[in-house]
Amino acid sequence: MTSSSPLQLDNDFVQHLPGDHELRNFRRQVGNACWSKVAPMQFPNAKLLAWSQPLAQLLGVNPLLLGEVRFARVFSGSELLPGSDPYALCYGGHQFGNWAGQLGDGRAINLGELQDINGQHQILQLKGAGPTPYSRTADGLAVLRSSLREYLCSEAMHHLGIATTRALSLVGTGESVMRDMFYDGNPKAEPGAIVCRVAPSFIRFGSFEIFTARNEFTPLQMLADYTIARDFPQLAGAAKPDAATYTAWFDEICQRTAHLMVDWMRVGFVHGVMNTDNMSILGLTIDYGPYGWIEPYDPQWTPNTTDAQGRRYRFGQQPQIALWNLVQLANALYPLIEDVKPLEVALDRYRETYEHSWLAMMRNKLGLVEPHAADQLLVEALLHCFTLVETDMTLFFRALGELAVIDEFHTIPASLQACWYEEAPTVQTQQAWFDWLTSYQQRCQHENREQSERQTAMHKVNPLYVLRNWLAQQAIDDAEKGDLTKLYELDEVLQRPYTKQAGKEHLAQKRPEWARQRAGCSMLSCSS
Ligand code: AMP
Ligand code: MG
Repeated sequence: MTSSSPLQLDNDFVQHLPGDHELRNFRRQVGNACWSKVAPMQFPNAKLLAWSQPLAQLLGVNPLLLGEVRFARVFSGSELLPGSDPYALCYGGHQFGNWAGQLGDGRAINLGELQDINGQHQILQLKGAGPTPYSRTADGLAVLRSSLREYLCSEAMHHLGIATTRALSLVGTGESVMRDMFYDGNPKAEPGAIVCRVAPSFIRFGSFEIFTARNEFTPLQMLADYTIARDFPQLAGAAKPDAATYTAWFDEICQRTAHLMVDWMRVGFVHGVMNTDNMSILGLTIDYGPYGWIEPYDPQWTPNTTDAQGRRYRFGQQPQIALWNLVQLANALYPLIEDVKPLEVALDRYRETYEHSWLAMMRNKLGLVEPHAADQLLVEALLHCFTLVETDMTLFFRALGELAVIDEFHTIPASLQACWYEEAPTVQTQQAWFDWLTSYQQRCQHENREQSERQTAMHKVNPLYVLRNWLAQQAIDDAEKGDLTKLYELDEVLQRPYTKQAGKEHLAQKRPEWARQRAGCSMLSCSS
């Protein structure tokens, strides 16, 4: 991008879909509309804190060419690019299992879209740039700590090879935001920030649910047809979509969601708030809030303090919750199909795909090639071992990849013991581990794969660096004091999560004891 060829945004979404006629920005119910026009707030002291070089390159939007000051103005919403016609999306959703009615972009403002260097359309969206008609009782703003977490994690997920919305930039607003972080009646001023999120579509399951809940079938169909034409072109034939098209589309959404869940389970990502308004119709990871990363392997763990009681969104339950959410989407799309059977078939296929792909993924994590009848048992036995002694999931699979399985073990190798959070587990626990290792070793020897080949393959699916909660928190603590060194270090190292990087051992460590109970490191509140 150069100053002589100004970046031009396009507004296809607003042009093709029904919108809100009210132009004033006040909180309200908005019927029969996909969007409401809304202007971002002005932040005269906005400052660019971080930006994603790989994404900037993909988009052709570069602060080095645009100038940092102007870039900060544009990506805080203070200056609109030519063609920009900002809007907030209307959607609803099921929150924690209950229908919550209208939600919508309460603090997200879409600037418009552009084509990336591959010709793919990408929407630019600011999160935290001020209130919208959908802000309900909240302020439309975001704080630095949660914005930094969203910025780092979106890009980290992308580099892990997992479908996600992305983050172009992190801009400090230069203004403070009041937040009661612990919901204990002690609000404090925190630095404000804005992330520019990027995705081909920010449409959610809840974008369809809201129309069906209100019996607004014309916009329901228009949004479905638009989404199919733009984002599922392989399904859009020459003719207008019909029941068969919608069925094939729903099936595709189920399949993408199944693969997303397998990927989350592979790397130990826990979303934390899998409400239907936080489920992308493209099968992307979306809305990074109180998410967390599994350190000791624990299917019961949820990072979200609001979820601590019911643990609805715990690590091990994510695939079932995704299915529950798909059922809600099926209900929302039913008026387009008017037949339950094909929807049920697609939901069944979700289950089959998930189970099959999950086992294949675990086989890959273990470095096994040939499917074998006993694989499920081998995997289950390993997961049982993890319940006997807290084991760092990420470090364990890396260490396993480096074991020479041809050697005979007489004890549990020190490199595996180093992944435990306890020094001396019971004799029974050690015996269970030893037994598992022996059966694993036999299985590997049976495959007769070269050690180097096995290790290379395992290291491609088992990351060494993930955004551990306490690493993100340390970067936040420093950033709040004005020191961005740790943010930049994580940003860079997480671009190559599968590759060992010299001098970065401190980013591939078990959770330190001090982080076990610290807010932000073990549990996170939704306040953001
Ligand atoms: P979440 O749980 O973060 O996905 O948010 C649920 C709903 O609350 C969405 O409609 C958000 O846009 C809205 N929301 C969350 N935080 C804010 C805020 N600070 N200001 C306005 N709306 C918000
Ligand atoms: Mg959300």
